[in-house]
Amino acid sequence: MKIIDGISRMQTMVKIIKKEGKSIGFVPTMGYLHDGHASLARSARAHTDVVVMSIFVNPLQFGPSEDFNRYPRDFARDEDIARRAGVDIIFYPKKEEMYPARYCTYVDVEGLASGLCGASRPGHFRGVTTVVAKLFLIVKPDMAYFGQKDAQQAIVIKRMVEDLNMGIDVKILPIVREKDGLAMSSRNVYLSKVERADAAVLYESLKKAGEMIEGGERDPKKVINAMSDMIKTKPSMRVDYISIVEAKTLKEVDAISGEVLAALAVFAGNTRLVDNVILKA
Ligand code: AMP
Repeated sequence: MKIIDGISRMQTMVKIIKKEGKSIGFVPTMGYLHDGHASLARSARAHTDVVVMSIFVNPLQFGPSEDFNRYPRDFARDEDIARRAGVDIIFYPKKEEMYPARYCTYVDVEGLASGLCGASRPGHFRGVTTVVAKLFLIVKPDMAYFGQKDAQQAIVIKRMVEDLNMGIDVKILPIVREKDGLAMSSRNVYLSKVERADAAVLYESLKKAGEMIEGGERDPKKVINAMSDMIKTKPSMRVDYISIVEAKTLKEVDAISGEVLAALAVFAGNTRLVDNVILKA
């Protein structure tokens, strides 16, 4: 496994790979890897010739009062997990090279990026689409792998790729969970013992939504209230939002029909956790 920390060296490597006629599978991450990230790399390994994983904690997608500075980082640990997941190249750019002082170009996906997490985290998706566009232009992947864990991000990136004719096949892979159902996340390391135990209620509430819809409930407000009541039984959890939206357009629904996305963000202390499920009525 190679580690490349310079943009021009990465671009040279990409030219060599392309010249050899090999396909590139790309997994963008912010590091502090877990099995969710590894599942993306394993899929890239199975379907493409060269697997590139980027590790870059992107300052642009963090709000001023968010956790950029204390975001967990452990490169040696990441190297080990990436190697075992079949990564060929870790691209590990420096923020000064990604965003030099003169930097002034941004990518904005309008509409899709404004609700759900976009409403709670203004500027977040602009940061995500800008860095992913930059990474795509550097790595020039044939396939790129993202997790359903960040459902809105996945939809926003698919739209960016389509709108800007990037010609990249974007794959969205299922959420990898801990035994009690908590979605794996680099941020889970922030949780206290009590918060970690209580956080299982997030997935429980999403399962409850599934049961209600399966039982014939079509009123999103009733489902959301039941989820909220469930989460409120855990004093360490504070709901940021719970939404039921059309799975493809992310539009709020008045009545549940077809495929919907039940999505939530919940604070455990200062830690913001997200989770979601796709449900069929
Ligand atoms: P991050 O490092 O948190 O920016 O995540 C990098 C990629 O891994 C994104 O596409 C995430 O959606 C994906 N990811 C994060 N957690 C999980 C998980 N538990 N299961 C599947 N994919 C995940």
